[in-house]
Formats: sequence, structure tokens, C-alpha cells
Amino acid sequence: MPTRRGRLLRVKNTAGKGLFIGLSWAAFIIVLAISLLTIYLVYPRIASIHRVLPIVLWAIFGLGVVVVGGGLLLITIASLTGLDVLYPHNGKSITMRVLFPVVVGFGGFLGWEKIRLMDAFVATNNALLWAQRKRLSGKRILVLLPHCLQFHDCQWRITHDIENCRRCGKCVIADIAELGDRFGTAIRVATGGTLARKVVGDYRPTLILAVACGRDLSSGVIDSHPIPVFGIPNERPHGPCFDTTVDVRRLAELLEMLLPKPSADAESK
Ligand code: SF4
Repeated sequence: MPTRRGRLLRVKNTAGKGLFIGLSWAAFIIVLAISLLTIYLVYPRIASIHRVLPIVLWAIFGLGVVVVGGGLLLITIASLTGLDVLYPHNGKSITMRVLFPVVVGFGGFLGWEKIRLMDAFVATNNALLWAQRKRLSGKRILVLLPHCLQFHDCQWRITHDIENCRRCGKCVIADIAELGDRFGTAIRVATGGTLARKVVGDYRPTLILAVACGRDLSSGVIDSHPIPVFGIPNERPHGPCFDTTVDVRRLAELLEMLLPKPSADAESK
């Protein structure tokens, strides 16, 4: 029987965030060292032009360290402790937008597989959302699924309406459709990023639970911003994009945590 902590870790899917945070700090320290070296090299020349210029240079450097380092520190504390220390704002998440390409580029340079880095990004994103969960609105939750979850030989079209599923049990779509009935949650199946963006634009969710591979999840997290996206990686026993599956119990538990009290109507269905 898993402990409550073990269950939470499994449901939230935050394993791997240490890699993302560690690489972020390593990249930050390297950039810091390069900046200091550059300042050291140009300092005599700058000082010879005007005596105020070195002060301006140090002020810009200090501001950069405080903003980037401070943001990184808050992300680290929030993702590792689950404490909501992030500044609430509706603007673009510059730190995540900047950190993602930096970590993927830097981690790739160090030899990490890109997919591993993307999974780590999704895990960090989940950890940050979890820290902010009291601020999330579960008013319009959208469960977004990839088409490859459907059994490859199924004749029923579920991309426009998951209710077309005959619930034969050959794939997890049947179980997820039942979750939709139980929680009264909107569930959509998308065949690709373009359709997924259209679905999000049409439904206008307040929160998305997305199932996909690490690559699609990470681009979905960035594209959907500022709508928060919890990423749940699919399982690929037959290889990518073919008869994939997902841990439905985990999806149900996550919905339960974000929507702790399903309506009496939905319960009685
Ligand atoms: S469970 Fe639904 S989607 Fe899956 S094979 Fe059966 S009818 Fe098709």
C-alpha cells in the first residue's frame, strides 16, 4: 500500500524536477562566471572612458543576478517544498520560457537526451503548479488526450466527441470517458498540436490536464500559457504514437485532488 506521500508523488508526476533545477543552476552559475570574466576584462577600458560607467555596469550586473537568481531561487523553493512562494501575476512566465530553452540546450550539450530534459521540464512545471494549487481554478477543467490512446483498429470517431466511444474496453478511452461522466469534466481528443490549440481556444479552460509524450507536453505547457497545464506522460508499450496508454487511476486521483468534491449529481450517475 503506497504511503500518502508516495501516492502524491506518483499522482503529481514531479519526479525528474531535480534534473531541471540542477541544470538551471549550473547554467546560471556558468553565465554568472562568464559575465564576471567579461566585466573583469572590459573594466579598465570602461573606467578609462568615464568614471560613472563602471558603476552602471555593476548595477546592471547586480540587477540581472537579483532578478534571474531570485526567480530561480523561488522556483527551486516552490518545486522542492510545495510552498507557494511564487509571485502571483498574469503576465508571461519569463523564467520558465527562458529556462526551458536554456536547460534543453545546455543539457543536450552535456549529453542528456532531449526527451529526458523535456520530461524534467514537465515534472518541474507540475511541481510549480502543485505549489500554486490553491490559486488554481477548477471551474473549467479540460482533459486533453492524444489520439494515439485510441485502439488503432477502432472504427469510432472520438476526436469530435468522446461519447462516440462504445466503451468496449480495448483501450483506455472507455475508462477516461467514464471519468468524464463521474467528474462532469470536459474531455477532448486531439490528433495534433494544431487541433489541441483549437480545442483550448474553443473551450477556454481554466486548467488543463494533458496526457501526451514529453515533447508534446512541454510544447503544450508553453503554448497554452497562461492557462496552467498539468502534464501526464503517456505510456508507450508499442512505441511512440501507437496504441499508447495512460494510468487512468492516476488521472482520476489528480482530478479528485483538484476537484475534491464531485457534485452529488455526477456521483449519482
Ligand atoms: S474503448 Fe472506445 S475508443 Fe477504445 S476501442 Fe473501444 S470503442 Fe474504440
